[in-house]
Amino acid sequence: MDKKISLQLIFYWMKPIQLVDLHTQYLDIKQDVDKAILDVLDSTSYIGGEHVKGLGSELESYLGIKHVIPCANGTDALQIALMAIGCKPGDEVLTPSFTYIATCEVIALLGLKPVFVEVDPDFFTIDVTDAKKKITKKTKAIVPVHLYGQCANMDEVMKLSHEHGIKVIEDTAQAIGAKHTGQEGVQSAGGIGDIGTTSFFPSKNLGCYGDGGAIFTNNDELALSLRRIANHGQTKRYYHDYIGVNSRLDNIQAAVLRIKLRRLNEYATMRQEAAAFYTNAFSSLDQIVTPKTAPWSTHVYHQFTMKLIDVDRQKLQDCLSDAEIPSNIYYPVPAHRQKGYSDFFIGQPELIITDDLSSRVLSLPIHTEMELDQLEHIAKTLIEFIEK
Ligand SMILES: *Cc1c(COP(=O)(O)O)cnc(C)c1O
Repeated sequence: MDKKISLQLIFYWMKPIQLVDLHTQYLDIKQDVDKAILDVLDSTSYIGGEHVKGLGSELESYLGIKHVIPCANGTDALQIALMAIGCKPGDEVLTPSFTYIATCEVIALLGLKPVFVEVDPDFFTIDVTDAKKKITKKTKAIVPVHLYGQCANMDEVMKLSHEHGIKVIEDTAQAIGAKHTGQEGVQSAGGIGDIGTTSFFPSKNLGCYGDGGAIFTNNDELALSLRRIANHGQTKRYYHDYIGVNSRLDNIQAAVLRIKLRRLNEYATMRQEAAAFYTNAFSSLDQIVTPKTAPWSTHVYHQFTMKLIDVDRQKLQDCLSDAEIPSNIYYPVPAHRQKGYSDFFIGQPELIITDDLSSRVLSLPIHTEMELDQLEHIAKTLIEFIEK
């Protein structure tokens, strides 16, 4: 058959492929979501409210973390966390450069210095050996990012923290629900360090229909500070003992999140199944290195990110795109190479692994609604390109 006709036939039968298919996911829970949103509208309790409280306690039990403090987004969560541990201008914070910009952004905004750390080339999470080399008297905190859906090596991070008296803030925006198995047994991502943060941005594994985020801690004192900072530094109504911020999750978003939280395990399984399909399909290709799961973590596949070996990434993306397959690079420019942050990098050592990874990673569509014909079409297109 003519290639064009056969492609059209495929597209006729197949649901369009998206990086994240939020619409199909919504249709599946539409009845519950619509009702919950309408109930909130009717209640006029738009800020705060029963769903915000309910979500907090449901997440506490789901994650096994003592305090969950909802806030406006994942970036705010990181900022509030850094404020709560008492960072002062000039303090240094260790963070991977191979990540989304939010961590570096809040560090810089608070007048702190981001110290860029390498990542593990297999797991994409912070290289603790490199972090250790970069500790100085000014180091106040380390922010491991559980990138793409699996935990950083938290036993090593916690050891570093105890040895050097530095605080740990886990960025769990991409890994909510992932489990870490270490010296303290099995723990949820975000509940191991002093503070954990997450984002409910729509495309995240637990996403709402707008912006949202949360902060986690097992420490009662920190929980109190975090709550106060997120609420204008208020200790009692109109009494502001600290400088705070205004960072709230609204009741409509919380209502949506409660419905989706009930399905989060199921959603993770669907992502894991799609990942297993890809991993198996590409297992014999030397040019594709599929993601490895660290022995200390489960993987909830926020992204399915491959490393390409001797492959023209742009050409591959073009070929996928011609076959109606979206793909993306998370992230094409590491933090230390971003114009807005280049001053911080002056005098810091080169990040060879980070630069190399940025040039060779590619992420394929992965979400909770992937269908077998879509996965087969993606795998076939990619394999044909590589074998050509
Ligand atoms: C999405 C994300 C954030 C920021 O979350 P927002 O809710 O968009 O502010 C922070 N860190 C990482 C790793 C993320 O993926």
